[in-house]
Amino acid sequence: MQEEKYDVVIIGGGPAGGQAARNLSQKGYKTLLVERYKSFNDNNFSSAGMTLEPLDEFNLPDNIIGSYWKDITIQCTKKGYDWFGEKPKGVVLDFGKLRQFLADESVSSGGEVLMGHKYVQKRVQNSEVEVDLIDQETAVIKTIKTRLVIDATGPLRKVMYDSKEEQPKMDVGSGTEYLIEVDQVTYDKYKERLVFFLGHKWTLKGYSWIFPMENRILKVGSGRTHLKSKNQENTDKSTKKITEKIIKEYIQPQEYTLIDVHGGILRYCEGLNDTYYKNGVIAIGDAISAVNPRGGEGIRYAMQSADLASDYIDSYFKTGKENFKEYEKKWKQKKLLKWRLSEASSKRMYSKYSDEQIENRVDFFQQNFSMDVLVDSLFNFKYNKMVFRIFSFLWLKLKYKFKKEEF
Ligand SMILES: Cc1cc2nc3c(=O)[nH]c(=O)nc-3n(C[C@H](O)[C@H](O)[C@H](O)COP(=O)(O)OP(=O)(O)OC[C@H]3O[C@@H](n4cnc5c(N)ncnc54)[C@H](O)[C@@H]3O)c2cc1C
Repeated sequence: MQEEKYDVVIIGGGPAGGQAARNLSQKGYKTLLVERYKSFNDNNFSSAGMTLEPLDEFNLPDNIIGSYWKDITIQCTKKGYDWFGEKPKGVVLDFGKLRQFLADESVSSGGEVLMGHKYVQKRVQNSEVEVDLIDQETAVIKTIKTRLVIDATGPLRKVMYDSKEEQPKMDVGSGTEYLIEVDQVTYDKYKERLVFFLGHKWTLKGYSWIFPMENRILKVGSGRTHLKSKNQENTDKSTKKITEKIIKEYIQPQEYTLIDVHGGILRYCEGLNDTYYKNGVIAIGDAISAVNPRGGEGIRYAMQSADLASDYIDSYFKTGKENFKEYEKKWKQKKLLKWRLSEASSKRMYSKYSDEQIENRVDFFQQNFSMDVLVDSLFNFKYNKMVFRIFSFLWLKLKYKFKKEEF
């Protein structure tokens, strides 16, 4: 048994935990980032597609970028709809390299990183938290003391809640992704393009995707939302099956090599009603449902929540006054309305609409909206241009109707 003392211990080396460790060690605090896997390549589960903005927002380097994309295809059951961009609109990151970069940044500012160790339990004593970690290889328990613990364990929320029963009700989604190497001709069809699949032919109450990585490598996957079945294994089997169908029947590569099969879960609390702070533990990232419930993008928001929480942690350490209620309030002010709208549209799109309804909506969107409006609405949750266009369209229709009646 060893005992060490930190200002902050961050459990979970995902984008949220890595960004918090980076921020707080840069501010001069003694930090420890703990990750249960031995290497960031061991759970490389995220497709990590995003727009360009997060690169500047979080000062991310080029060497973690798998590829750039500029076009989008939405493939419905009957037809595919294309949008073309003149210049890059986003990137697909190497998720392992992103997390390694964040951990390295923390180390370069004096932070410590402990890989291959799993959080087991905590004990809160006065103004300190004692945390037990288990070495995944040797089963040796290490006990550390800290002023604050950050729960960055993503969908598991392992630190905030001592048992699963304490957790609020969650909406569960699950995704499987194949990393494949294809021939050059096939790769060239998908390079610089994100393909999303909607409708029953290529998805199971969710959406599927093809994202390009570096030359000849594609990420192909499928996700399910609003899972009723508690049987994760069956869900994984069905998303694997549909992913294989997309490779064989849609991509139809002359040949391909399977490099990796990975996947993960999303557990989202409607209305963002997670616990943000309790007894020396503050939660960030997917542990506070930062992931968007419609598209499942969560990297940018995990990192944004880490930035916001870091400011409140800094102020707590400087003033001794804890104001984490304000952290929750600020986060909800920023996201709640947009995430509520996303909850509703995801339920309609993935669980309610028929293939024909989906096709009609995508067709309308393609005829009326440019690539930039699509990107704003899909990734940035900005609907102003779209709403303006729809109102103008309805207004013209109404005007035309009145004119006809007058005549
Ligand atoms: C299949 C799939 C595809 C996705 N694609 C995209 C995408 O294209 N774009 C996008 O923006 N988002 C995507 N997401 C969502 C995104 O990956 C997540 O929202 C994001 O990773 C959340 O970051 P986080 O740091 O909060 O949690 P996580 O990334 O889940 O990190 C949590 C970390 O905690 C560790 N951990 C858990 N329990 C313990 C413990 N007891 N002790 C120590 N460590 C522990 C885990 O090993 C993990 O490394 C996808 C998700 C899935 C499942």
